[in-house]
Amino acid sequence: MPLEQRQPRVEDPAWLALVRKMPCLVCGYPRSDPAHLRTGSRQYGKRQCGMGEKPDDWWVLPLCRKDHTDQHRHNELAWWASKGIPDPFAVAKALYATRPVELRPLPAPAKPKKVRARKPRSERRRVGKSRPIPHNPERKIQNRNTLRKSQ
Ligand SMILES: [Zn+2]
Repeated sequence: MPLEQRQPRVEDPAWLALVRKMPCLVCGYPRSDPAHLRTGSRQYGKRQCGMGEKPDDWWVLPLCRKDHTDQHRHNELAWWASKGIPDPFAVAKALYATRPVELRPLPAPAKPKKVRARKPRSERRRVGKSRPIPHNPERKIQNRNTLRKSQ
């Protein structure tokens, strides 16, 4: 049974459809599954997903079926790191920033039934104070665009 979510997740089918047309970030295969990042990240203000839960649809990266299946067999962050992507959150964020304007407006999430108390302000403010990450996500994004253009 799925755990109760604090907020209804943001669903963005138009974005997921676009991600399916992107090449796999790992092997370059031209069709992908949108692979949701389930791990939480304090740095990006992203909550860990419980069992049966999915994160908002902007936390996705394109992976072919084979790599997506393989990813689910391993620890998520360790798997991404082993593929040369130590910060998949940054990549997902950068990728989502390329969401075409014509796909807007973004579907609004449904109103939450019950709003639980938020974290104390002191804890929330820490989110933006992290050090910049050394990994450059632009490189992967650039590869993706290059691949798309050359198709
Ligand atoms: Zn692949």
